Amino acid sequence: MEEVKTVESVENEAGSKNFIEQIIEKDLNEGVYDHVTTRFPPEPNGYLHIGHAKSILLNDGLAKKYNGAFHLRFDDTNPTKEKSEFVQSIKEDVDWLGADYKGKVLFASDYFEQMYEAAIKLIKKGKAYVCDLTAEEIREYRGTLTEPGRESPYRNRSVEENLLLFEEMKNGKYEDGSKVLRAKIDMASPNMNMRDPVIYRVAHMSHHNTGDKWCIYPMYDFAHPVEDAIEKVTHSICTLEFEDHRPLYEWVVRELEYPQPPKQIEFAKLYLTNVVTGKRYIKKLVEDGIVDGWDDPRLVSLNALRRRGFTPESIRMFVELCGISKSNSSVDYAMLEYCIREDLKLKRSRVMAVLEPIKLVIDNYPENQVEYFDVMNNQENEALGTRKVPFSKVLYIEKTDFMEEPPKKYFRLFPGNEVRLMNAYFVKCESFVKDEAGNVTEVHCTYDPQTRSGSGFTGRKVKGTIHWVSAEHAVPAEVRLYENIVDEEKGKLNEDGSLNLNPNSLTILKNCYVEPSLKETKAYDSFQFVRNGYFCVDAKDSSKEHLVFNRIVSLKSSFKI
Ligand code: ATP
Ligand code: MG
Repeated sequence: MEEVKTVESVENEAGSKNFIEQIIEKDLNEGVYDHVTTRFPPEPNGYLHIGHAKSILLNDGLAKKYNGAFHLRFDDTNPTKEKSEFVQSIKEDVDWLGADYKGKVLFASDYFEQMYEAAIKLIKKGKAYVCDLTAEEIREYRGTLTEPGRESPYRNRSVEENLLLFEEMKNGKYEDGSKVLRAKIDMASPNMNMRDPVIYRVAHMSHHNTGDKWCIYPMYDFAHPVEDAIEKVTHSICTLEFEDHRPLYEWVVRELEYPQPPKQIEFAKLYLTNVVTGKRYIKKLVEDGIVDGWDDPRLVSLNALRRRGFTPESIRMFVELCGISKSNSSVDYAMLEYCIREDLKLKRSRVMAVLEPIKLVIDNYPENQVEYFDVMNNQENEALGTRKVPFSKVLYIEKTDFMEEPPKKYFRLFPGNEVRLMNAYFVKCESFVKDEAGNVTEVHCTYDPQTRSGSGFTGRKVKGTIHWVSAEHAVPAEVRLYENIVDEEKGKLNEDGSLNLNPNSLTILKNCYVEPSLKETKAYDSFQFVRNGYFCVDAKDSSKEHLVFNRIVSLKSSFKI
């Protein structure tokens, strides 16, 4: 992988028209097409990840931009690998991202009849033949990059014989692997894909959609252009590894004489640093119990990102910032974090939650008194309104907000120092209590009633402001903090090929306290916990009785735009 993209390096690219838009506009201007149709063609054999999101949003975005159509089509031509469960999860992910396929889900397998007809058309044109070579022989005859291939002895069968044999293949007369249909192109082509590629094979297998109706199945390189053409797709956008297949794509749509045939355009895959996207690796992480499923918040499958608390808007922003390119590169994970911070900044309430609590007792505050402070939900966005936050004599504060012997520039609580309790009063540290092990368990303070928040007090200033929750009113919660699951700086893989895992990728804090306003939360709700970051209610493990929050991202960033 060459360079790592940063916000700085991509922002120049982002504004201008990308190369695909340029192609589309040229095609429309020259009348090559009278409409624009794009598609996202997942194989239903796994969960979608952030890379697929790029493809979905790119295709959907182009359709929207040019007033065209976007198709969601399951590329389910291969009966061995597909599972119906993935159809549902992929559809949910595409819906979540907000791509608009007009409620119509398409399946490549619905076109098996038309694909069969297309193959017959090629046979009739003398452009396809039934070949009896074994898979191994076909490989051998194919030649190498430096040597041309040899023609199959079955290459010159008559059209009549080919039609008959192909029909017999379809009718189940032949065993798996005994016969294939091949395109008749050029065994000496420098492009190996053009050396009479197999376009149909015999496979006596049940298909999740068509059952046992078919025992011949089309190969991807033939099926895909036919699917696109049937749907009147104009720009068939795929990733770079298909570049060498483009001549075959073009051959298929040309020989089948489709009007306004679709064209294939390639772009570079999205790679992210510090994450794992390969199905093989994720499967192993799940099997080894290192993550708690494909939706573990440390992963970047779309259901994992959603569970972590990412929004569709943040992913859209991320994909737009990345831009599209013709050469492979990696994008810094920090850019994704930047996008979610930007998205949530004005949209979410800023609430108080104490992750590692110790007690703060206000010695001169009346016993049993409770005050309610009106607190703005988001100081930068008045539209989010206010809420009431209870305050009382005993509070929880962060353990790290008190130090017995503070270093220089520590402005929070230490004996004799005064700080602001956010949204409430100034308090001054008078004393503290330690347990037998020497841990501080309680900080004792006095408060100054004059300094009440909102009273306009200007008598004196303090340098530190800390957050708190009222012990009597606070709601207990579990909080999960995440770091990257792999540490790219040390290399993604160990010498033996296993993943170089970060042992600190998950920290579970079980004794946190959040303000009572968070009691009525539901799955996927998210908040800023002041000073601690953005957090999201875990969709799998959180309940009314036991709140669980995932940290989406901390507040600070090394990233600026
Ligand atoms: P993977 O190899 O990552 O498991 P895949 O290629 O098997 O993914 P498909 O269902 O075949 O998944 O892909 C559906 C579409 O998503 C294809 O058009 C493919 O080019 C695109 N796609 C897959 N990975 C990425 C990526 N990292 N960046 C952009 N597009 C991608
Ligand atoms: Mg694939």
